[in-house]
Amino acid sequence: MREKLRQIPSMSSVLSDTRISELMTGFSTEAVTALIRQQLSQIRSTIDSKSEIPTVLEISNQVSDHIERNWSNWPRNVINATGVVIHTNLGRAPLSTESMEAAIDSSKTYSDLELELDSGKRGSRQARISQLLSSLTGAEAGFVVNNNAAALMLGLSALALGKEVIVSRSEAVEIGGGFRIPDILKQSGVTLAEVGTTNRTYVRDYESELNEETGAILSIHASNFKIIGFTAAPSISDLSNLGARGEIPVLHDVGSGSLLDTTKYGLAPEPRPQESIAAGADLCFFSGDKLLGGPQAGIIIGRKIYIEKLSNHPLARAFRIDKMNLAALTATLIHYLKEEAQNKIPVWQMISAGLDDLRKRAHNVSTKIPKSDLYSLEVIGTKSTIGGGSLPGETMDSFGIQLKVNNPEQFALKIRTGSSPIVPRIEDDTVIFDLRTVLQNDDETLIASIAHSLKN
Ligand SMILES: *Cc1c(COP(=O)(O)O)cnc(C)c1O
Repeated sequence: MREKLRQIPSMSSVLSDTRISELMTGFSTEAVTALIRQQLSQIRSTIDSKSEIPTVLEISNQVSDHIERNWSNWPRNVINATGVVIHTNLGRAPLSTESMEAAIDSSKTYSDLELELDSGKRGSRQARISQLLSSLTGAEAGFVVNNNAAALMLGLSALALGKEVIVSRSEAVEIGGGFRIPDILKQSGVTLAEVGTTNRTYVRDYESELNEETGAILSIHASNFKIIGFTAAPSISDLSNLGARGEIPVLHDVGSGSLLDTTKYGLAPEPRPQESIAAGADLCFFSGDKLLGGPQAGIIIGRKIYIEKLSNHPLARAFRIDKMNLAALTATLIHYLKEEAQNKIPVWQMISAGLDDLRKRAHNVSTKIPKSDLYSLEVIGTKSTIGGGSLPGETMDSFGIQLKVNNPEQFALKIRTGSSPIVPRIEDDTVIFDLRTVLQNDDETLIASIAHSLKN
């Protein structure tokens, strides 16, 4: 064993390899040396009497592979051919050109982020976005933070710390990876007071739970699941009337924050923030990067007195939105004010894409891929979904390419890890590329990637 350990190449022998010295010219000598040291110590710790000792060349290859894979810009762009419009694993909503440019602009130089140019005094990064949100939704004011989970924690902590928050049993749920309503309440320092049953909850259930300890009533949109059949839940306006009587704030987490009417696109209704405000919710919470189609953000709209409380809370600072997201969000909201959201915001472009257009694109893709006996390729009607915890069970007719190959999983792996990664979905042992979620400009890249992966 001792002999074996002695055979492991030395640091200096690896350092003198030409590939390593080439790497040293592009990267920090210290960092490359540390990586080699790590690699050598791993070899030392895993070696046993039977293992082969790697050569200097093998070690330097491992090191340069590691550097090539990891020491480059990330995340990598991928083409989403899954048909899931808001795919959390793929970064949720792609931004409009205007939003992306606003984010770049805001970051490459100084800005008046927190300075009032006319008075020269300190300003608030929230003032403008608050006004835009008011104009769009009819709310008195708005406030934005890092994401909706943070928004909810801030709202609960600022308005109901140490008190009880009434939630329907049907809504004390897990919404997405690691987002459980009971846990969020606990972490916000409030006590969960569950009322009603899993399928039916009435206003009188909330009413009988009200007491001096009540800090808020919270209603959460069941965004990623559906209870069907014998169900009942009070409307936001019923809850608002109840809250108003006892001066208890009614908080409404609508999740996706669709400002547009999803029923116009043949989908089930999603609660809209402006409707929540009109129904009397004191605060309404939603994400920036789901159906709003903007950057990651948590948006809070509602009554000025409550928004002010939130903005003065220490967590507001901890959850502060950064300037790039703020700039991108502002540009996204302006699309809605200009009534151009459907044509400019990628998620709405995808949702509103016409079937004829999708069929044409699918045909174009399929005719440009060479035919072979080893696989078959066909244009098929398929179903896209919204995803991102929005409109569960709802599908949209779409068109795509169905590829039948010997080993679909292996093909999917290959095309995911190629030089222009494509993420398809596997269905019935075939590989499906749904055109609805492929950005129009990406069709040629999709064609080239499929053709290339089939060839090799
Ligand atoms: C997605 C979602 C959240 C979490 O929002 P993030 O922006 O991902 O933090 C909270 N509540 C509801 C109802 C949601 O759908």
